[in-house]
Amino acid sequence: MPKWIDRTTAVASASIMIALVVMGIKYIAYAMTGSVALYSDALESIVNLVTAVAAFWAIQVSRKPADSDHQFGHHKAEYFSAVLEGVLIVVAALLIFRQAWISYATANTPENTLMGLAVNSVATVINGAWAMFLFRFGRRRRSPAFIAEAWHLTSDVISSLGVLVGLLLVVATGWAALDSLVAVLVAGNILWSGWKVIRESVSGLMDAAVSSDVEREIRAIIATEAEGALEVHDLRSRHAGRATFVEFHLVVPGSLSVVAAHEICDRIEAALQAAVEGAEVLIHVEPDSEARHHGVIVL
Ligand code: ZN
Ligand code: ZN
Repeated sequence: MPKWIDRTTAVASASIMIALVVMGIKYIAYAMTGSVALYSDALESIVNLVTAVAAFWAIQVSRKPADSDHQFGHHKAEYFSAVLEGVLIVVAALLIFRQAWISYATANTPENTLMGLAVNSVATVINGAWAMFLFRFGRRRRSPAFIAEAWHLTSDVISSLGVLVGLLLVVATGWAALDSLVAVLVAGNILWSGWKVIRESVSGLMDAAVSSDVEREIRAIIATEAEGALEVHDLRSRHAGRATFVEFHLVVPGSLSVVAAHEICDRIEAALQAAVEGAEVLIHVEPDSEARHHGVIVL
């Protein structure tokens, strides 16, 4: 096992531990004050904790090679953790809206607000420091998962700062309804980040094709590497996690030997795998009587 996998696993585990500590501190701050704004901050941390665990699991599973009962690989495991994250985010936001309404309707006033904010700030500082570490670590390893987590924590820090400002205003003005208002804003922010996660994982589950830029690149590679063939048609692609499946029909002269046709296929496959990370290519070879002359890559 290469050394960097050990470091990655260690950092991912540390992320879970830190999420646990931060969640505990935030919950204490909520319990001290009864502030619905601090409640929303604590709930956001629970979502972070569960998604950190799910992401850790998904990374382990999606890394596994194809086996007899998952013959195309385990790439889509990553979408499960993303869908779970999306669902939890919606549940958390609904809980916050409900609590904010109850708090507003009963004219609940937070107690010990300054003490609670001091406790909550410890959690915010830990979150901020860990986010900065994850940015550096993720960029060094070129890992989109860690960079995404760093951005996620940054948005947490921003909503914690919003809660801080809101509750300081409650203390300064004595206007308790502001507590509920801040909680609703936090819930809105949580819903927005959840929407982005859901949108991305749904497009993956729906077998989204590669972007038009990548498709143009694939067509150009086929056109330059397929010397000896006549045309290519029915080109299709789909993403599955970090894998990209590409398939098409390759028309060759009917008199070409199987060995020669296979050589062309291997050449195209190698070029596509070099250009598109995680490409898995399947080519269907046909004689020239199958030529389409429309929607094709003419060679
Ligand atoms: Zn065909
Ligand atoms: Zn082959």
